[in-house]
Amino acid sequence: MKRKYLFLSIIFLFVLPCYVFAKPVKIQIVPRKIFPGDAFLIKIKNLRNKNTPVALINKKEFAFVEFGKGCYIAIGAIDINARPGKYKIKIKSGNSSFKSNLLVKRKIFPSVSLNLPDEKVFPSDDDLKRIQDENIKMNEVSGLITEKKWEGNFIFPLENEISTLFGVKRIMNEQWTSIHKGLDFKGKEGEEVKASNNGKVVLTEELFYGGNTIVIDHGLGIYSIYMHLSRIKVKSGDEIKKGEIIGNVGSTGRATGPHLHFGIKLNGINVNPDSLIKLNI
Ligand SMILES: [Zn+2]
Repeated sequence: MKRKYLFLSIIFLFVLPCYVFAKPVKIQIVPRKIFPGDAFLIKIKNLRNKNTPVALINKKEFAFVEFGKGCYIAIGAIDINARPGKYKIKIKSGNSSFKSNLLVKRKIFPSVSLNLPDEKVFPSDDDLKRIQDENIKMNEVSGLITEKKWEGNFIFPLENEISTLFGVKRIMNEQWTSIHKGLDFKGKEGEEVKASNNGKVVLTEELFYGGNTIVIDHGLGIYSIYMHLSRIKVKSGDEIKKGEIIGNVGSTGRATGPHLHFGIKLNGINVNPDSLIKLNI
């Protein structure tokens, strides 16, 4: 009996300190303060339970991937229409849950006035039907959450000057306002356009507004969109590597001249591509 007690006390001495001194779960939000429409990272360390966590922010779920034992990372985003303030981040992993928060700062997005041919600003009934169908298709192809395909940082598809920033209010023909949901790069007709990260092509089509358009699924709800191309060099189903040439700059669709419209969707949220590219993944 004595030996048994001695054995139990040895186990107690060695096992107990493990629990006492085990590092607590650490949650880091990078950057801590963002603007509406921005992406950010959620990093978890020392998570001992084996259930892959999920983050809940503003009623949207964001998936994590494991990066080493007990370490997880997720890319989150907040809508451009989100009000400034503090947002709760709830993380669930099996029966455990953790909390953190994110600060969304106020940002005044600039306005610009444009003049385009009336038929591009005020579409006919037939064109309106086409635009509606294209929007439905676009939401469908970019609405699925598939396995992770992206590797490391996202890159700009073209290293040219930006002509229109994300979130700019465009007042067209003094009557119609639209919010710019991507970045426009200045470009020459035919310049090569690169894939922002590894992924799978899920759409190659000529759209009313976007002209020749490519959509790439990077996994975990992240999609990149390339518009107004003169040429599309890939097809739906193609597996693409980061930096691979996928098309050429053009002025198809609603464009005043050759340029590239580059958009990012994350869980259906239109994200400022610049904020995603700046993340050190
Ligand atoms: Zn654009």
